Amino acid sequence: MTFKIAIASGKGGTGKTTVSVNLYKCLSEKLNDNVQLIDCDAEEPNDFLFFKNAKIKQKEVIQQLVPKIDLQKCTFCEKCSEYCMFNAIPIIPSAKYANVNTSLCHSCGACSVACQFDAISEYPVEIGVMRSYLLPEGDGLIEGKLKIGSPMQTMVIKETKKYVSDNSQIVLFDAPPGTSCPVVETITECDYVILVTEPTPFGLHDMKLMVELLNELEKPFGIIVNKAGLGDNETHQYIEKEGFELLGEIPFMKSYASDYANGNLFKNIPPEIEKTYNNITKKIVSKMNLK
Ligand code: SF4
Ligand code: SF4
Repeated sequence: MTFKIAIASGKGGTGKTTVSVNLYKCLSEKLNDNVQLIDCDAEEPNDFLFFKNAKIKQKEVIQQLVPKIDLQKCTFCEKCSEYCMFNAIPIIPSAKYANVNTSLCHSCGACSVACQFDAISEYPVEIGVMRSYLLPEGDGLIEGKLKIGSPMQTMVIKETKKYVSDNSQIVLFDAPPGTSCPVVETITECDYVILVTEPTPFGLHDMKLMVELLNELEKPFGIIVNKAGLGDNETHQYIEKEGFELLGEIPFMKSYASDYANGNLFKNIPPEIEKTYNNITKKIVSKMNLK
């Protein structure tokens, strides 16, 4: 049984990607490489940058089927517009105008079913690309990358998830920042969520939003405080008061921060940080065994 974990944060810049990549490495060592990493930050997937020897294994274009209205057949009855939950079909019968706003369309197919006059056909539009990478450790990395200008991040994530293999013991999903639809799509099938935050007023504010979302989705979660030592104590007080599980605190160290800013995440890891990741890894493995 695969244990699916999302690594999420209410805001960007908390170090969610470095946590994801480090956990991938530690868990791969612990579980004889039976771990996959899925980069769902489709607007700017960058997990692969931390693996110097990453080799592309597979690349597939992700397409969306978009409806098109044949004005020769259309009677301007407005049925398709009524069926569209996303207000993507404006119809003005008096002007004999019917169109599909492709940036609002979610490719649900309802309009094609609704039309009794065979006036709607569908055509494919490229919205992104899926790449899978072979890595020196683990079962590899898969990323979904949104086409520039496309608003279909959620759909790219959904399609990317179809390439995830169920053969690994653990799959880590590096979620996009924030609490909107792409994040929900990423974490919706996960068994557990790791919430990465930083001890600053901004980190705390956005973590609270994320906690609200996770409670709404009824997802169990634990918290990693990154850049510990910076900022104030309020994040700790909040975690303690609410009784949330603190999985670990990763100390802020300037020299290591500059190392990973240069992509050298796995070089010269300070012992304090290595110890923290090892402890978090043990906690995750015990959760997997409890599932
Ligand atoms: S349901 Fe068909 S016929 Fe009616 S407005 Fe839409 S496309 Fe035209
Ligand atoms: S496919 Fe669905 S979302 Fe797109 S225009 Fe038709 S009804 Fe609306």
